Amino acid sequence: MTRTPNDLKKIQTYLNKLYPKAICMLDHRNAYELTVATILSAQCTDARVNITTPSVFKKYPTLDTLASANIKDLQKLIKATGFYRNKSKFLIAMAQRVVHFHQGNIPSRSEDLIQLPGVGKKTANVVLSNAFGIPAMAVDTHVGRLARRLGLSTSKNPDHIEKDLCRLFRRETWTLLHHQFITHGRTICKAQSPLCHECSLRPLCPTGLREKKDPHTGRWVKTSERLISLVPSVTELMCQWGLASSLVGRTNYCIHPSRVLEKIPRVGGTKNPRFKDILRLKPTLVILERTENTKKIAQELEGARIPTLVLNVTDLKSCIKAYQLLGQRLHRETKSKKSVAELRRCILGRRVKSLKVLIFVWKSPWIVAGSQSYCGGLLKALGGQVLGDTNKSMDYPKLTSKEMEKLKPDLILLPTEPYPFNEKDRQEMMKLFPKSKVDIINGELLTWYLSRTPAALRYLKQNYFT
Ligand code: SF4
Repeated sequence: MTRTPNDLKKIQTYLNKLYPKAICMLDHRNAYELTVATILSAQCTDARVNITTPSVFKKYPTLDTLASANIKDLQKLIKATGFYRNKSKFLIAMAQRVVHFHQGNIPSRSEDLIQLPGVGKKTANVVLSNAFGIPAMAVDTHVGRLARRLGLSTSKNPDHIEKDLCRLFRRETWTLLHHQFITHGRTICKAQSPLCHECSLRPLCPTGLREKKDPHTGRWVKTSERLISLVPSVTELMCQWGLASSLVGRTNYCIHPSRVLEKIPRVGGTKNPRFKDILRLKPTLVILERTENTKKIAQELEGARIPTLVLNVTDLKSCIKAYQLLGQRLHRETKSKKSVAELRRCILGRRVKSLKVLIFVWKSPWIVAGSQSYCGGLLKALGGQVLGDTNKSMDYPKLTSKEMEKLKPDLILLPTEPYPFNEKDRQEMMKLFPKSKVDIINGELLTWYLSRTPAALRYLKQNYFT
């Protein structure tokens, strides 16, 4: 990513505001102490080094004394900083070389410093900039990470990162800048979980801009996906799985959860979405379902080379497959496994009784959900016998009055959608079937597959199968 001079100026302005006086955190009084402290800081925190160095400098106040140190004594003093065997060897050898070649004074040229045992380019730059006031860019793990995340370098090699940063920023700012990067890396731009939502650099940071707050869970998540769901219940499921921040489009019928979806653009209906709007949203994936959406939409999307995931949900078995497909494609394997396990738990267990159930979905003409339909499948999975299957090839067969008279259901369910059955309809049905239990049931519970399948099974089980 190319950073413009304006971007660089803004980055520095933010850092200057945040950390106007960022300094080296290693306690030292001169070049000797800083060199020792920096060698000890490898794989160790500055705080731990600062606890250790006073006793080292008390015993070895000068390079001469360190050059003639007993290695065992030194090891004891620096043990807490880790890698103490190597570090003690380096410290004594470094001191001996300085005494021998530099008259006991830490050299102030980079090429001399990097000749000292235990001193690499980073340590040399720390010493140059902090002990001698010579501008230098010391690239440690924090500086390297910040440089990559802010798009200032693509390299993982500290030497290359140093070159990139020195090329981008003015020489006189190098010392302050590397301290600012270190402070920011320690406090905000942490290695494992950068606090992008708290970071003032976020508007300028290509990495931070990929982080979004999930409106459903309130968590900050990384996302480069631009998802459009043309299936209302799948849209709801995506929000449940913490993918709301990746949703860039939905249909008019994707209404749950309303608070989360209200800001997400609509692209029309499920059968007739506006193709132009979908294209404009530049999705990385459009999710469809065979009965919910038409084949024409899938073909149009395919023609425009827009990746699609077409689900086919007809029963509980296909629900499991859909969970797995969505889990894989949306990188939500754990959520997918949990959903599958929950669904299986709901249908396991002793079936206490078998019920003959009639599920109406429409009135005038009377249309019922057959045993091959999704909601028929829910009842069957719990041990119910779904009535009204006069035509096995139809998921939702029509029933004549004569056909209805022959049926003897234990339970009649009147869902509130797609036909808005109400209390009046229930009374009418009770007259037609005086021996049956007639209940109005939330239609979304019976028809919103995936997002509400476990809830529907639990509800049916508790109310009718215990
Ligand atoms: S926005 Fe995030 S990644 Fe970018 S600098 Fe800030 S904390 Fe680091």
